[in-house]
Order: sequence, then structure tokens, then C-alpha cells
Amino acid sequence: MALIELKNINYCYSPGTAFEKHALRDVSMAVDAGESVGLIGHTGSGKSTLIRHFNGLLRPNSGQVVYQGNDLWKKPNEIRSIRFQIGLVFQYPEAQIFEDTVGKDIAYGPRNMGIGQEEMNARIRESLQCVGLDNSYLERNPFRLSGGEMRRVAIAGVLAMRPKVLILDEPAAGLDPEGRHALFDALRHYRRKSGAAVVLVSHSMEDIADFVDRVVVLDQGSVALDGPVASIFAQAEKLVSIGLDIPQSTKVLLGLKAKGYSVKTEAYTVEQA
Ligand code: ADP
Repeated sequence: MALIELKNINYCYSPGTAFEKHALRDVSMAVDAGESVGLIGHTGSGKSTLIRHFNGLLRPNSGQVVYQGNDLWKKPNEIRSIRFQIGLVFQYPEAQIFEDTVGKDIAYGPRNMGIGQEEMNARIRESLQCVGLDNSYLERNPFRLSGGEMRRVAIAGVLAMRPKVLILDEPAAGLDPEGRHALFDALRHYRRKSGAAVVLVSHSMEDIADFVDRVVVLDQGSVALDGPVASIFAQAEKLVSIGLDIPQSTKVLLGLKAKGYSVKTEAYTVEQA
């Protein structure tokens, strides 16, 4: 059984008005525990609309969202608590930071879950470590950190809720290569340690090739392709026809990965795995 499954989702904005927009058409996709899935597609293909269905931020007009075998919308009152298990990280999450210390900011989510102080302290330290920052950051002012560090603090706040499904919308946008590596290392670390599923929305084919095992391609609100990343990226003609281009460097990266190398992209460091 999949950890989370979207079954035949249809979603329409402003139905019955002049602005009616059928954003998702009969979309089905399933994600297993421990899996990392990329979600790609041209701007306007429905990625943002789709990820808002995973944790009940949007209710489908028809179709089902099934989490751990249960239809999310059968018990709408429980959706709020399920949101702690299905973490959604929007673009530029650091914009949501508001506390004056890193520790307080990471504590915000777990506190809303009603977690006690001792468990909270353990979670804060664990999440901070997971994103590659040491305890000396706890008392620091998050607004004085670098952009990449702020991003990692914001994501640590989501990890502290220990989500079983983590959905990230363009998590590396605006980061320099170093910040990007640190972020993806943190996400790999969390996935390995927790067995969580990760869904990554990205315009960067390189990030998709680097991080995910499987990719789902959306085109005009429908699933156009779904499969292992190498086999999807090999379908160049189909991808070009829906406005997606796979750079040559990404193909090289995939070829190296298939040969068992771990590749640090942009820095062009190649290490034998
Ligand atoms: P993507 O994330 O792939 O860029 P979106 O899910 O944002 O795609 O958008 C899918 C379609 O729905 C687009 O045509 C977009 O214009 C439309 N859309 C998105 N949000 C809204 C909204 N709040 N109201 C009306 N239409 C919307």
C-alpha cells in the first residue's frame, strides 16, 4: 500500500464563473514511504495546485486523497492534525521566520502539536543537526544568518514536526551552489534517518536528476509521464513537446550516477561511490 495516493483528482478554480480554470484533470499518483519523487512541468501545468491536495489545503472537486489507507476528506476535522505528518514547504520558506532566535523559531511547529518541553528540546537539536547547523545557532538571530542558513532553519522547523511526507516547492531557489548542496544533503539525511517520503517540485532538471528516484511530469493539468528519472529524461522528444528541455549536463550527471558515481554538481566534483 502506498503511503499517500492521489486518485483521479479533478480541481477547478472559480467554477461557474468567467474565470473558471480546470487546473487538474483526473490526476493519479502514489508515493511510497522512503521514496523521493520529482514533480515537474511547465509553468501553469498544475504543480502548485497538485501539492496543495497532498495535505488538504485544497479539496478536490472529485477524486480521493488517501493517506495511510484513509480517505483524507472522510474526516475533515482530522485534517489539521494530519498536516503535521504531511509537511508542505512553500517557496522561500525563510519569509515565514518571525522569532528572534533560531531555537524559538524551530520550536513554533512542534509547540502547536502540543509537544512537551523535553521532547521539544530534543527535536530542536535533532532538526538543527539534520540541516547541518550546530547548537551554537540556537540563540542566534535568524535574521542575521546567510540566505542559505535561513532557508535551512526554516526547513528545520518543518523537520521538527517529523513529517512522514515532506513536500518541497523549489527549495533551492535563489541559493548559491554551496547552500544548495547543504540543503539537499540535509534532505537526504532526513529521508535516510526517518524513512519519510519526499516530493520535490523543481524547475531544475539537475536537482531532479540529483535528488529523486522517480519523476511525475504534469502537462496542462494531467499526468503526461511517470517513471524512473533516467527513463523519463530519455524521452527527449516528448518532453520538448510539452515545453521541457533536459540540458546535456543533466544527461551526463545521470550517466555518471548510473555508473555508481556520486556527483557534486556545479562544483564538478566526481567521487567514486
Ligand atoms: P504550476 O505550479 O505548475 O505553475 P499552478 O498549479 O500554479 O501551476 O496553476 C495551474 C493553472 O491554474 C494555471 O492555469 C493557473 O493560472 C491556474 N491557477 C492557479 N492558481 C489559481 C487561482 N488561485 N485562481 C485561478 N486560477 C489559478
